[in-house]
Amino acid sequence: MKTILVLLTVIVFTSCGRSQENKNEMTSENPYYSRTDTSKLAVSNEEWKKILPADLYHVAREAGTERAFTGEYYKHDAKGTYYCAVCGNKLFRSDAKFASSCGWPSFFETDRKGSVIYLDDYSHRMIRTEVKCGRCDSHLGHVFDDGPPPTHKRYCMNSVSLDFEVDE
Ligand code: FE
Repeated sequence: MKTILVLLTVIVFTSCGRSQENKNEMTSENPYYSRTDTSKLAVSNEEWKKILPADLYHVAREAGTERAFTGEYYKHDAKGTYYCAVCGNKLFRSDAKFASSCGWPSFFETDRKGSVIYLDDYSHRMIRTEVKCGRCDSHLGHVFDDGPPPTHKRYCMNSVSLDFEVDE
């Protein structure tokens, strides 16, 4: 009995100590989430729907857009790393984030080549480049050519699609 109590205490304390920013991993069982495994995922929307919170599912799997100026990270300037909220893939460093007036978190470069993929997007009577996670294929946002030097790119991302971990 005593052993069980000790074990339970350890489990409770371990879960409380996990990163608050890691919303997806915190709120549901997501067996695909990993910050170290970079292998491509092929998971159906049917499966993702069972795993992801509704707001994240809508943006990530139905190419939704969160309302401007409402996201958690558009004004966020702590030093750290941004990961895909769906699968944990490393996407951006805070050094590449800049204050954009567009109302969504904006970055001028990705963490590494291949961390995201690009698709032509002709929806809503616009010609845009959609940005998706290179690991799980989830919608993250769009990239535009009006960013700051050195890249002049503006990766305009949905906060809900991002997990943030502050630097130690
Ligand atoms: Fe992902």
